[in-house]
Amino acid sequence: MSRVLIIGAGGVGGVVTHKCAQAPEVFSDIVLASRTVEKCRKIRDQISRPVEIARVDADNTLELVALIRKVSPDIVINVALPYQDLTIMDACLETGVAYLDTANYEPRDEAKFCYKWQWDYHERFKERGIMAILGCGFDPGVTNIFCAHALKHHFDTIQAIDIMDCNAGEHGHPFATNFNPEINIREITQRGKYYEDGRWVETEPLSVHKTFDFPEIGPREMYLLYHEELESLARNIPGVRRMRFWMTFSQEYLTHLRVLQNVGMTRIDPVHFQGCEIIPLQFLKALLPEPSSLGIQYRGKTNIGCMIEGIKNGRPQKYYIYNVCDHAECYREVKAQAISYTTGVPAMIGAMLMVTGIWKGEGVFNVEEMDPDPFMAKLGQYGLPWTETFPQ
Ligand code: NDP
Repeated sequence: MSRVLIIGAGGVGGVVTHKCAQAPEVFSDIVLASRTVEKCRKIRDQISRPVEIARVDADNTLELVALIRKVSPDIVINVALPYQDLTIMDACLETGVAYLDTANYEPRDEAKFCYKWQWDYHERFKERGIMAILGCGFDPGVTNIFCAHALKHHFDTIQAIDIMDCNAGEHGHPFATNFNPEINIREITQRGKYYEDGRWVETEPLSVHKTFDFPEIGPREMYLLYHEELESLARNIPGVRRMRFWMTFSQEYLTHLRVLQNVGMTRIDPVHFQGCEIIPLQFLKALLPEPSSLGIQYRGKTNIGCMIEGIKNGRPQKYYIYNVCDHAECYREVKAQAISYTTGVPAMIGAMLMVTGIWKGEGVFNVEEMDPDPFMAKLGQYGLPWTETFPQ
């Protein structure tokens, strides 16, 4: 029996709340807090169990500390934006409460993400005797766990990892992003980067691409991007020599993105406009559909997984593990599209393993440092079944 405080009432926050509500034996009390309390109310009204709601500005540590003291949760699940990671971690340190998130910290004024800022909290969490789990969505999250599972059960050494993220869904809008538009566009427009032989190799944005035949979807063009799980996996998978992250995009999406970039709409520096300062990307976010609104007409599937190569019993081996998720089925179950669903379910499972003491530790950890077995067992049970194959 535990009390959970979920911060962020967007697409992912809705799924986490629904999924915690499906496990009353673990999450006996649920509190959902966000900047716009109306969004919390909308999610609460979809759920038959009681959900308490609250307003909080998660950029403000003092407000967070006051809320955490009032709610007295066993864990805080942070599904607001990466900008709020450090203030929420500060508030957890102050109040001595466990922390979990799905995306690593990003400063607002620079399109850069890396784990250093959060890894630097390790000693303080350890001294306080509390645990933080970073990046427990799908990618990062399940993809890291897939690697830990592969290492534990199928390889003596992992040499190469290709993480492949395909969304073959149609939402009916000419252009929309599947999670927070600001964070999504910042991620996609930066330079590509992959890991090889102990160093990072940079590429021009979206310049490296190839076709892959995704099970249950078919052939799709996927593009090399830098993604945060590569950083933690480089630290935690011993001996790995090459790691790349790939994501599929349609030509329609890429054309819109190119035009928006060319006209300056993806800029993150302030621009003077009619007597006030605006940040073009934040203005664009205000025009684009909210990710949480896409679910109602989303059709098609996602396929996210890892192709792993390495050595088992002295022989080279290839291994592919993936999940397929159907947008419309997600909407029927929790009123969300598959990107929010595939992020929210792992966040709930990670929190469940922490509050029940199955995942234990003092300090700041990435998910691949934990035992993958109990997590993998719960994935299918809570809606994300996985398939593994050994391609020749
Ligand atoms: P949304 O934009 O739909 O939701 C974000 C929510 O956070 C909104 O309700 C927003 O409030 C709230 N919020 C923003 N700033 C604050 C603040 N200062 N104080 C309180 N609440 C705030 O995003 P998503 O739900 O799509 O994404 C949530 C998180 O999940 C992001 O960090 C994203 O990067 C991560 N993610 C991780 C993935 C993974 O696989 N690991 C995949 C997809 C997403 P308001 O409505 O008022 O703006």
